[in-house]
Amino acid sequence: MHDMPLPERSALKLAVIGTGYVGLVSGACLAEAGHHVICVDQVPAKIEKLRAGLIPIYEPGLDEVVHRNAAAGRLGFTTNIAEAVSGADIVMIAVGTPTRKLDGNADLQYVFAASRDIARALSHPAVIVTKSTVPAGTGMEIKRIIARENPTLDFDIASNPEFLREGNALSDFMKPDRIVVGTETERARAMMEALYRPFTAQGFELISTDIVSAELIKYAANTFLATKVSFINEMADICEKVGGNISDISRGMGSDKRIGRAFLQPGPGYGGSCFPKDTLAMVHIGEKALSPATIVEAVIAVNRARPHRMVAKVVAAAGGDVRGKTVALLGLTFKPETDDVRDSVAVLVAEQLAGQGALVRAYDPQGMDHARELLGEAVDYAPSMDAALDRADLCVLATEWREFAERPLADYKRLLRTPMIVDFRNVFVPAEVAKAGLGYLSIGRAGVPAPELLPA
Ligand code: NAD
Repeated sequence: MHDMPLPERSALKLAVIGTGYVGLVSGACLAEAGHHVICVDQVPAKIEKLRAGLIPIYEPGLDEVVHRNAAAGRLGFTTNIAEAVSGADIVMIAVGTPTRKLDGNADLQYVFAASRDIARALSHPAVIVTKSTVPAGTGMEIKRIIARENPTLDFDIASNPEFLREGNALSDFMKPDRIVVGTETERARAMMEALYRPFTAQGFELISTDIVSAELIKYAANTFLATKVSFINEMADICEKVGGNISDISRGMGSDKRIGRAFLQPGPGYGGSCFPKDTLAMVHIGEKALSPATIVEAVIAVNRARPHRMVAKVVAAAGGDVRGKTVALLGLTFKPETDDVRDSVAVLVAEQLAGQGALVRAYDPQGMDHARELLGEAVDYAPSMDAALDRADLCVLATEWREFAERPLADYKRLLRTPMIVDFRNVFVPAEVAKAGLGYLSIGRAGVPAPELLPA
C-alpha cells in the first residue's frame, strides 16, 4: 500500500498484534496462504517459546503449520512492534477483549493500547484491521486514537472478525464458512480482498460490509449460537420434569434444515473465552443504544443458572450430601481439544463442590495447568484418568474428551468405589450404562439409579 493503490505482488506483508488463540492461528494460516507475517506479543516468554519452536497454546495441528512457515521464512515472532510493522501492508489487532467487571461491556483497554502502539510505530501507509471481537463503533474509536497519536499517518481501518473455534481452529481458518470484512474506503477493501484472495480463489465467500455491520455480525453470530444452547438446555430441564428424551428432541428438531443440528446438544451451559463475554457485551451494546437485547438477556439468565443445577445433580447423585465424598471430575476445559479453561463450567462446579465439602479430584488431558491457576489448592489434581477415578465415590464427566467417552464402562465400574456417573455431556447411552452396572444421571434424559449409593 506504499504506493496506493494495491501492490502488484500477491504476497502481502502483515503484522499481527497478540499471539493468543486467534492471533497465532491467524498469523500462521495467513503465512500458510503465502503472505509474510510477523506476530507480536507483549509477553516475552511467549515469543521466546515461539522462537524456540514451542507452541504456547494447545491447538491440534498448529505446531506443524507454525514450524513449516517459520522454516520457509514467512512467519516470524517478536516483542518489538516497530520491527513487526516495518513495511507492513496490513496490521492486524488480535488482542483479548475480556468482560469489563464494571458493566459487562467488552474491556477495550488492550485494543486501544495496541492501537496507540501501532500509531507510534507506523510511518508508512497501511490498513489497520481489528480481528478482536469488539462492540459496534470500536473501529471508529481506533481511527480517532491513531489519528490523535500520529496525525500525519496515512491509514485506513477495517474490521475482520474471526469465527474460528478452539480445537478446530486451523480447519475453520483455512476453510471458512465465510470471511467478513468491513471497510470504509475502496483501498482498504481492495487490500483485504488481496489478503484473502488465496481463500476466495478456492471459492470461499468474502462478505464485504461497512465497519459497524462487520463488528455486529460477530456478536449476532455468537449470541445466536448461545441462544441455541440455552434453548436446548431449557428444553432438557423441562424433559427432566415432564419426561421425554432430549437427545431425541434435539434430533427431531435439528433435522429440520431451517433449524440445523449444530449447538443443540444439551449440557452444563456454555462457557469458554467467547460466548459468556460476547453475550454480556451484546446486552451492553443494546442497553447503550436504548434498544435492549431482551432475548440475549434471557439466554444469559438461563446459562447463569446452569452451574448450580449441575452441582444440584451431583449432590443428588451423591445421596443428598457431598461432604467428605471423593468426586472424580473428568474434564476442566470448556470443551475438548483445547487447554482453555476461561469461564469453564467444570471449573465453577469444581469450586462449588469443594465449597460444599467434597474432595474433588480433577483430571483433564490438556487443561490442568490453566485450571491450577484458577482453582489453586481447592481441588486435587490427578495425573491420569485412572488416578482420578480410583476409588472415588462418584464420577462427574464434565468435558467430552474422547479419552473419557471411549473408555469402556467396565473400567469406570472397576475403578470407582461407588459406581455412579453424572454426565454433563450425555456421552453415554443410559441403557448401556445400566447394563454395565453403573448408576447414571445425565441431562434431559431418564436417570439410572445407582446399584448402591454407598460402599458396601
Ligand atoms: P488471548 O488472550 O489468547 O490472546 C491475546 C494475546 O494478546 C495475549 O497473548 C496477550 O499477551 C497479547 N496482547 C495483549 N495486548 C497486547 C499488546 N498491546 N501488544 C502485544 N500483544 C498484546 O485471546 P484470544 O482468545 O486469542 O482472543 C483474541 C480476540 O479474538 C478476542 O477479542 C476474542 O473475543 C476474539 N476471538 C476469540 C476466539 C477464540 O476462540 N479464542 C474466536 C474468535 C474470536
